[in-house]
Amino acid sequence: MEKIKMNNPIVEMDGDEMTRILWQMIKDELLIPFIDLNTKYYDLGLKSRDESNDEITKEAANAIKECGVGVKCATITPNADRMKEYSLKEMWKSPNGTIRAILDGTVFRAPIIVKGIEPYVKTWKKPITIARHAYGDIYKAVEIKVPCAGKAELVFTDENGNETKELIHEFKGAGVLQGAHNLNKSIESFARSCFNFALDTKQDLWFSSKDTISKKYDGEFKKVFSDIYENEYKAKFEAAGLTYFYTLIDDAIARVVKSEGGFIWACKNYDGDVMSDMIATAFGSLAMMTSVLVSPDGKYEFEAAHGTVQRHYYNHLKGEKTSTNPVATIFAWSGALRKRGEMDGNSELMHFADNLEKASIATIESGKMTKDLSLITSMANPISLTSEEFIKAIREELEKLQGGEAKDERLVKLEEFLDCKTVAEKRDVFKEMKDILDDKLINDIAASLDIVVDEGDIEKRYRSILNCLNTMEKYETNRFR
Ligand code: NAP
Ligand code: MG
Repeated sequence: MEKIKMNNPIVEMDGDEMTRILWQMIKDELLIPFIDLNTKYYDLGLKSRDESNDEITKEAANAIKECGVGVKCATITPNADRMKEYSLKEMWKSPNGTIRAILDGTVFRAPIIVKGIEPYVKTWKKPITIARHAYGDIYKAVEIKVPCAGKAELVFTDENGNETKELIHEFKGAGVLQGAHNLNKSIESFARSCFNFALDTKQDLWFSSKDTISKKYDGEFKKVFSDIYENEYKAKFEAAGLTYFYTLIDDAIARVVKSEGGFIWACKNYDGDVMSDMIATAFGSLAMMTSVLVSPDGKYEFEAAHGTVQRHYYNHLKGEKTSTNPVATIFAWSGALRKRGEMDGNSELMHFADNLEKASIATIESGKMTKDLSLITSMANPISLTSEEFIKAIREELEKLQGGEAKDERLVKLEEFLDCKTVAEKRDVFKEMKDILDDKLINDIAASLDIVVDEGDIEKRYRSILNCLNTMEKYETNRFR
C-alpha cells in the first residue's frame, strides 16, 4: 500500500504528561503507517517552553497563521506546584491563551457521539457545538470590596477629556462592586468566526445573551451579530439552507434541552465556560470532547478538550499500563488532516481522516474501549483495554477500512450514487458530493442519468444536474401514487 502524500504541512504541537505519551502512540500506530506525514514540529512540552522563554509557543502560533492548520497536544498551564516540579524560570502563561491571542480565534467544542455512550438528555441525537467568546466580561473585570456606606459611579473619560457618568449605587453599608468591559473588535471577530464555522460545518447558528436586562452591554453583542449577519452572511446562509437564530440565554437553555442537537450555540464568555462543561458531561465524557480554534480569517487549530491527564501519567511513571482515552486526541489529528485535505484538494487525505474517525467509533461500538467509557457504557459486556491495546484495536479497523489501497473519495461516492434505488436517494448523495465534484465526475453522473450537461463552471453544472434530479424525483413520486 502506498502512503498518502501531503503537499503542505500542518503545524504539530507536542505537549505534556499522559497526552504526550498518547501523541507518540497515535503517530506510530495510526498515522505514520498510512501517511507520509508532513508536519512542522514544535515541542510545547513545559521543559521546552521554559528553555525557550516561551518563544516556542509564539513561533508555533505564527506558523499556524502561515500554514492555516495546526494540531495540538494538551499542555500544562503552570501554577505554583508546577513551578517547583519543573524548576521553572517563570510561571509561563497558558499556551492556549497565547495561541488564541495571536490567532484572535474562537474555540468550538463538540462531543464525539458513539452508540453505547448515551447522552443524559434523551432527545439529543446529534452533537451540540459550543462556541465560547474568550475575551472580557468578568474574566477581565476589576472589583472593589465596598467596606462601608458611600457612592459608586461608573465614569468614562474620552480621549478629549469629556466625561460620561452613571450612578451605580448609593451604598448604605458594605457590599461589592465590579467593572466589566468588552471590545467591539473582539465581538466582531467572535461573530465572524461563528458565522464562518457554521457555513463550514453546515450547521445552524444560535446566539444567546441577556439583552432584555443588559440593554447596552448585551444589547451591543446582539446588534453586532445581527449587523454582521445581515451585511455579510445572510445570502450565504440562505444559499446553504442554514439559519441564524438569536434568543435569550434562558430561552436558549430550555430549547437546547428539548432539541435533538446538530447546531452551534454561540455563548458569551461566562455562559460558554459554564455551558461547555454542562454539555460535555451531559454527552457522557470529557474524554470524548473535541476542540477547534477558528480565527476570523479561517485558520484552524485542533485539539482535545481535556488536559494532560496528570493522575494517569504518575501511574505510567510507576510502570503501570494506563487506560487513558485517546479518542479526542485522535479526532484532533483527523480534524487537522481533513482540513489540510480540504485546503489542498487532497481527497485521499480527507478520506483517510474519515476512516480514522470511523475506525475509532467502530472499535468502541464493537465493545472495546478504555476504562472511562466502560464505566459509563450501556453495552452489556464491554472490554476494558489499556491505551496501547485500544489504539492497536483501532489500527485493525483502520486497516480494514483503508483496504489494500486507498480508494479515491470520488470513486467511493460515485459507487454509492450508482447503487441508490430511488431518485430521491440519488439526489441526497449527489448533494453530499458537491464539494468534491470535478468535470469527470459530473460527466460520469450525467451519463448514468442519460442526460447531457453543458460545459461551464462546476457550480452551474452542479445546479443543472440537481434540477434534473428534482424533476425526475417529482415524476417518480407521481408515478408511485
Ligand atoms: P484533565 O487532564 O482533563 O483530567 C481530569 C480528569 O478527567 C482525569 O484525572 C481523568 O479522571 C479524567 N480524564 C480527562 N481526560 C481523560 C482521558 N483522555 N481519558 C481518561 N480520563 C480522562 O484535567 P486536570 O487533571 O485538571 O489537568 C491536568 C493538566 O492539564 C493541568 O496541568 C492543566 O493545566 C492541563 N490542562 C490543559 C488543557 C489544554 O492543554 N487544553 C486543558 C485543561 C487542562 P480520573 O483521574 O478519574 O481517571
Ligand atoms: Mg469551565
